[in-house]
Amino acid sequence: MNDCQCRDCQHKSGTGHGSYLTFPGKKGVQLKGTATHWDIVGDSGNKKTRAFCPNCGSPVYMTFSAMPELFTVHAANLDDPGRYKPQAVTYHLRGHAWDHLDPDVPKFDRMPPA
Ligand SMILES: [Zn+2]
Repeated sequence: MNDCQCRDCQHKSGTGHGSYLTFPGKKGVQLKGTATHWDIVGDSGNKKTRAFCPNCGSPVYMTFSAMPELFTVHAANLDDPGRYKPQAVTYHLRGHAWDHLDPDVPKFDRMPPA
């Protein structure tokens, strides 16, 4: 679970960061309906595919060309979003002073080291 402050996540969320859960695959993740997709190049230089609801425009999930096994869901789309507890902040170097995040959560300028 992570908050990401990259410019893409700021643009997509309309605020200071996006909040995500990343799973090691789609297995165990239940999605209802059909999403529409578009591709962008993230701050890392790698392609991201974003999925959104074609009816309301809400962002739903993301996949990454550089790590095709990963499946990332937007925290607000959980059945119980209150269970979201970020464990890291990524792309903190892009963060804005007004975007206050939990000081106890580890922050990485870009992605955490592999
Ligand atoms: Zn991001």
